[in-house]
Amino acid sequence: MAEDCVFCDIVAGKIPTEYLYEDDTVLAFADLRPIAPHHVLIIPKAHRDTLVHAATEKDGELLLGRLLKVAAQLGGARLETDGGYRIVVNNGPAAGQTVYHLHVHLLSGRHFGWPPG
Ligand code: 5GP
Ligand code: ZN
Repeated sequence: MAEDCVFCDIVAGKIPTEYLYEDDTVLAFADLRPIAPHHVLIIPKAHRDTLVHAATEKDGELLLGRLLKVAAQLGGARLETDGGYRIVVNNGPAAGQTVYHLHVHLLSGRHFGWPPG
């Protein structure tokens, strides 16, 4: 748990948030300011600043695999209803990362242009 981390506060139950998925290591919940009709965040319960920090941990492969597996499970339902979905992980300021607790964005419900902005 990191101090001054909004996602650690959500994991700790300090910010009332409806969980869309939970297991022993992963949590998913709706984004507060959605940029698509369906916008879910999938996070590790344990604090990791970025993808790089998670990848270099001893359990990195397991954790990252679990995050993507949950994204695939939640996205699978959207594939049926929305015709597809996009997964995004912003890393660092140039990529638009604002919360430094690793999170996977799962976006669906509209068309997503390519290349992304
Ligand atoms: P980033 O810009 O770091 O890739 O994404 C951070 C995301 O966290 C943003 O989409 C933002 O709306 C979301 N967010 C920030 N604070 C909260 C919060 O307290 N609750 C929820 N559910 N989402 C949040
Ligand atoms: Zn955190």
